[in-house]
Amino acid sequence: MLTGDFYRFQEKLTAEEREHVARIRRFFEAEVRPIANEYWSRAEFPMQLIPGLADLGVLGSFVPEVRQFENSAVYRGWVALEMGRVDAGVATFVGVQSGLAMGAIDIGGSPEQRAEWLPRLGTAEVLGAFGLTEPYSGSDSARGLRTTARREGDGWVLNGAKRWIGNATFADVVVVMARDEADDQVKAFLVTSDSPGFTATKIEDKVALRSVQNADIVLDGVQVPESRRLQNIRSFRDVATVLRLTRCEVAWQAVGIAVGAYEAALAYAKERTQFGKPIASHQLVQDLLVKSLGNITASIALCMRASELQDAGEQHDQHSALAKAYATARMREAVGWCREILGGNGIVLDKGVARFFADAEAIYSYEGTREMNTLIVGRSITGSAAFV
Ligand SMILES: Cc1cc2nc3c(=O)[nH]c(=O)nc-3n(C[C@H](O)[C@H](O)[C@H](O)COP(=O)(O)OP(=O)(O)OC[C@H]3O[C@@H](n4cnc5c(N)ncnc54)[C@H](O)[C@@H]3O)c2cc1C
Repeated sequence: MLTGDFYRFQEKLTAEEREHVARIRRFFEAEVRPIANEYWSRAEFPMQLIPGLADLGVLGSFVPEVRQFENSAVYRGWVALEMGRVDAGVATFVGVQSGLAMGAIDIGGSPEQRAEWLPRLGTAEVLGAFGLTEPYSGSDSARGLRTTARREGDGWVLNGAKRWIGNATFADVVVVMARDEADDQVKAFLVTSDSPGFTATKIEDKVALRSVQNADIVLDGVQVPESRRLQNIRSFRDVATVLRLTRCEVAWQAVGIAVGAYEAALAYAKERTQFGKPIASHQLVQDLLVKSLGNITASIALCMRASELQDAGEQHDQHSALAKAYATARMREAVGWCREILGGNGIVLDKGVARFFADAEAIYSYEGTREMNTLIVGRSITGSAAFV
């Protein structure tokens, strides 16, 4: 049982799901935790972990023809938590490869496109990325997206720029969202990184999620055959379906980050002595620990229910938006309190909290900021869209 799973929510998984979660936890403790700080520090992604991640079955575990066993959205949420609890960078790699790239093909691909891409992405033979955000449109992707797609003969020509695209420095294929010049609708294209006119440049000097390789992409007259346009993504509404599913997993990932920070802070508080006794026995330190645990416990409950709604086919945009907005806000509070418990040691990597504290900032903003997810919920409960 996880120290951070105070109400033992994980017991709600099936025995088979629990076994898989335990296997994933063992891998993350043995292979990921020992190197996470080093790669974070160097701003490099530990590429050698990728085959092991594929063996664990965390890539495309929601895709019937790829998954190792039939599982629930609640299970997949716990997997995101377990990964985030050790390293948000590796969890983000998986979120991009699996949730965003494979998710877009799962939702938008024709049977032929699914057969061509999903199995190879599931084994990590092919690495993927998802290009929606642009230099001039982040929150306003639906209306502000400027990258264009022009039909020419049997194919398309793409022009534009993308920003922040995770895994894009090494991805073989990027799902690029572009606006069709003919009907003004957003469509999705599988752009291989060897295409003439495609360049991806790493964004340097990040202070969060440093091991994640985010890129600025330029698309300069990139030619894409019609067979690489995702046939079932016809408008931004279809792109939003992909984001609805990934947002919920990011909420779980955020809880994982809070759990990782909490567990490290609790262990530290029991060992660190001030005024002749462990700081864990000071009332104000206990207050910080208990508030963190309360945030974690409430967020797990919320995420569990959001995922149950997904399993029942009843999860709507507002459900995953509330999970993402709430869990990331509670995470941000919790990692701050946990950092505080370590005093000065809270800002050095090797004491176990600083990386979670820093990475939380990126999770708070990606896959829709707290404000945008709040507005999605606000629109749902009031009937009034307040996006402008
Ligand atoms: C580490 C990282 C990884 C990422 N990975 C990817 C990826 O793989 N693929 C991809 O496509 N994108 C990716 N993104 C982009 C991410 O989704 C965007 O950063 C996010 O959607 C916010 O957009 P923005 O940064 O352009 O901020 P902006 O949209 O410019 O927003 C700036 C601020 O204004 C606020 N704001 C904007 N509009 C409103 C409004 N109407 N009302 C109130 N407040 C408002 C926002 O909430 C925010 O606080 C990633 C980002 C990061 C940081």
